Amino acid sequence: MPTVANATANRTLEMVLNEALDFRTMAPPTPLEVDWAEENLAGLPTTVQLVEGERAWHWRFEDGKYYRKAGEVWVDLELKQFGIDLYERSISKDLQFFRRLIERAKSGLFERGGWRRRTRADGSVFYVNTFSRLVDGPKLRAPLHFAAPCTEPGCIYTVHFGSEPDHDAEVIQGDGYRVFLTLIDPRPGDEWAVWIEKDDDVELSPARALAFARDIEWVAVAAQRLNADRNRAVSA
Ligand SMILES: [Zn+2]
Repeated sequence: MPTVANATANRTLEMVLNEALDFRTMAPPTPLEVDWAEENLAGLPTTVQLVEGERAWHWRFEDGKYYRKAGEVWVDLELKQFGIDLYERSISKDLQFFRRLIERAKSGLFERGGWRRRTRADGSVFYVNTFSRLVDGPKLRAPLHFAAPCTEPGCIYTVHFGSEPDHDAEVIQGDGYRVFLTLIDPRPGDEWAVWIEKDDDVELSPARALAFARDIEWVAVAAQRLNADRNRAVSA
């Protein structure tokens, strides 16, 4: 059962303050904010991990609305890294919410977007965003698929939601197309395969088509390699 907490606890104080954030009514980023974000945040990768010991929970603000706290999102400018720490029982919507906070930070809404400076015991600095997600109520609609750590060797994701995850070992974003090295719904005997997507209205010039073909070939070879590893592991 999700926990419904009052907004009186200390830990919620900051969330209450941040709760005033409304991206729909917020002024767009200024050129200065955009420049700063492009210089400091734009190229940084994001790690996603499941933290044990803390559970996603709900709380009710004095406006009567419910908010959900399902993790922490942080950035370390020294390490050049964004991170999403998901609490136990977090769901894919929580992860999407945290990814949107990062996208907004990268677009320029950093300080105004709720990111706050923190100092570790050793003096190093990082930033966290404690903004909570507005939800319908304390009860979540079924079916729920909670985050679980991925155990498939080669997969680039650290967590999945649900019992039949799509694993990806490679995701290539091309010009008008995408190529994935994917393992869908793994059961014994299933194999890594190439999954391709093309934007509907994009005509492939010869140069683009060649790049597409090269990417497919590259992923196909990688799939063969992963399948050989997988078959060895199964027969071992
Ligand atoms: Zn996976």
